[in-house]
Amino acid sequence: MILDLPLARASLDPDAEARTRPGLLEDVLAEADTAVVLVDEIGHLAVRDAALDLIPAAEHIPPPGTVHVHLGRTASGAARVLAIAPRDARRDHHDLRRIMARMTPEDLGIAVPAVAIANWHHAHRHCPRCGRATEVTAAGWVRVCRDCGLDHYPRTDPAVIMAVTDDDGRLLLAHAAHFPAGRYSMVAGYVEPGESLEHAVVRETREEVGLDVVDVTYRGSQPWPFPRSLMAAFTARVVGTPWPRADGVEITDARFLSRADLATAVGAGDITLPGPASVAHSLLLDWYGGPVP
Ligand SMILES: [Zn+2]
Repeated sequence: MILDLPLARASLDPDAEARTRPGLLEDVLAEADTAVVLVDEIGHLAVRDAALDLIPAAEHIPPPGTVHVHLGRTASGAARVLAIAPRDARRDHHDLRRIMARMTPEDLGIAVPAVAIANWHHAHRHCPRCGRATEVTAAGWVRVCRDCGLDHYPRTDPAVIMAVTDDDGRLLLAHAAHFPAGRYSMVAGYVEPGESLEHAVVRETREEVGLDVVDVTYRGSQPWPFPRSLMAAFTARVVGTPWPRADGVEITDARFLSRADLATAVGAGDITLPGPASVAHSLLLDWYGGPVP
């Protein structure tokens, strides 16, 4: 069964076939019901509390150098345009990670692609092949190098995260070196070139905790635009009840916990769990059978 993941919310029609139409952005910004989503130069989103601070297109005065992206259209046909521009001091800008747990699914379906493509633009101002400055085309969805002629499309880095269980039904939880004290999550890692998602699950589990997994089963995916990942969720299991061996570099502690062990550790404050918008959180609740008390 595929998990219902909180950031997997495509609330806009991407209107992708319109992107290459000449003058599309000017036309869309002239429509009465178009609204603009602002992301600043460090990838922070303009919000009011935890709602998108949408600016009517007629009130949008872009500073020089603003990059616009046609994000798509709502169910009623209203366009949403991303403006990547220096921070507007009159508006609140926030890191999406800090507010996403409180956003509506509709706003998340706009905010996640907006931040993802803004992060891509920030990192692709120059051609990776020849180093020249690139130009934005296709309503913000392509950067072209006029020097060597190469088109650059937005990239996503695939990563895998896996809920690994043993023959007693216990779940593998690991403390990564970069986590705050007490935080535990599942093992995860980036897919390497030439590798399938399933192979990445097997390799990362072996590298991080020294265990071989079988029955690798896909459970869904969601974007994680920090800066540009796509997280694919899996379940897998080990044969028997082996001891995990943390690699000591990426992972400093790893253990299998029963549901009772986990509830006790969380209740005592010994373990804190991943945030509610993460894939890890959904995988954990799926294994536990509901919210951990
Ligand atoms: Zn080039």
